[in-house]
Amino acid sequence: MTASAPDPRRLLRQCGRQGLFRHAVATEWGGRGDRFGDLLEAHIQKGRECLDAGLILALNAHLWGAIFPLLRFGSAEQKARWLPGLIAGDLIGGHAITEPHAGSDPASMRASAGAHPEGFVLNGEKRYITNAPVADVMVVYARLETKPSAFVLTSQDPGFSVSENHPTQACQAAAMGEIHLDDCRIPADRLLGKVGAGLNMIQSALEWERAFIFAGIAGMMEWQLERVIDFSRRRDSGPAHLGRHQAIAHRIADMRIRLDTLHLWLKECARLADAGKRITLASAQTKVIASEAFLQSTLDAIHILGARGLEEENGMAGWLNDGAAGRLFSGSTEIQKNLIAALLGTGEGYKPKRQPPGT
Ligand SMILES: Cc1cc2nc3c(=O)[nH]c(=O)nc-3n(C[C@H](O)[C@H](O)[C@H](O)COP(=O)(O)OP(=O)(O)OC[C@H]3O[C@@H](n4cnc5c(N)ncnc54)[C@H](O)[C@@H]3O)c2cc1C
Repeated sequence: MTASAPDPRRLLRQCGRQGLFRHAVATEWGGRGDRFGDLLEAHIQKGRECLDAGLILALNAHLWGAIFPLLRFGSAEQKARWLPGLIAGDLIGGHAITEPHAGSDPASMRASAGAHPEGFVLNGEKRYITNAPVADVMVVYARLETKPSAFVLTSQDPGFSVSENHPTQACQAAAMGEIHLDDCRIPADRLLGKVGAGLNMIQSALEWERAFIFAGIAGMMEWQLERVIDFSRRRDSGPAHLGRHQAIAHRIADMRIRLDTLHLWLKECARLADAGKRITLASAQTKVIASEAFLQSTLDAIHILGARGLEEENGMAGWLNDGAAGRLFSGSTEIQKNLIAALLGTGEGYKPKRQPPGT
């Protein structure tokens, strides 16, 4: 947590140098060929080291927004062209789903792609896109002949531009911006996956992101808890130390329960992913538990630390905004609960079969 604004590109390149984008990636693409369990441990460690939710957000957007969709849906040519640079951190990536009129419901996206003799021409606007101002490669979702589809765009494509409108007060180390597509012409080989597969690809990318984006934040929460325990022991409060008060001790116990619950869910996601099983339900549950835990434990930590919890150099006050953002990015808490209910066969996403009268 430095006072001067960090350079997001340099920070992401450093993550690449540390090998952070090589976990759970096959060796043929420059990965380590190791497991999601290894990825999890490396991300937790990164969170402890950087204590920066903005950097955690940025590296996850790069990984799950660009690298994994290319690995999963890219043609051999697309993989060979983009993956080595992205995995090394020499190229920066992300994904652009959200629009001014389509946030929680990507199915209502308006960005469009039309065919032209050499490829596609894209028009539309994307908003709140992590890494957009520094990205070389973006996976952008737009309707091709009304069907949501995915495209690989580069910052050099004619008609592709980024503005830094609507600055937010959260995850500040991440560069965020709007993407404008004004008759953006790209060659035919930039279609990623199949025409009309866009919504499934969004779901897939967000599933991975939800499962692991809070791994780095778990590392930050470990540091936060240690800091609070240490303070509660050292701070005098009448004849005893601060932690002797049950009201304080219980808050600390709650922080530990939340952190351990988060660790268990992260491990469960890694276990399922390593076993090649679906993570749809587990990742939605993890996202809800993790984002609520981060926000609540940050409130508790600041409260226990007293006014010093709000000191600027401490950085924890900024985590409150990061925590609020955590409940929104990768799909909000409400959207995860809708998804969980739908997977249970009820709720907003479930269409009941017509019942005979009287039942
Ligand atoms: C820090 C940050 C980084 C981001 N990075 C990216 C990125 O890299 N790429 C990208 O494409 N997007 C990104 N986003 C956008 C993010 O995905 C959206 O903010 C999110 O999907 C919610 O959309 P919205 O903000 O438009 O809110 P809305 O969809 O307008 O929702 C407003 C409120 O209504 C609730 N709500 C909406 N629909 C329902 C429903 N059906 N049932 C119950 N409640 C509902 C929501 O939970 C929310 O509380 C980022 C956002 C943030 C904050």
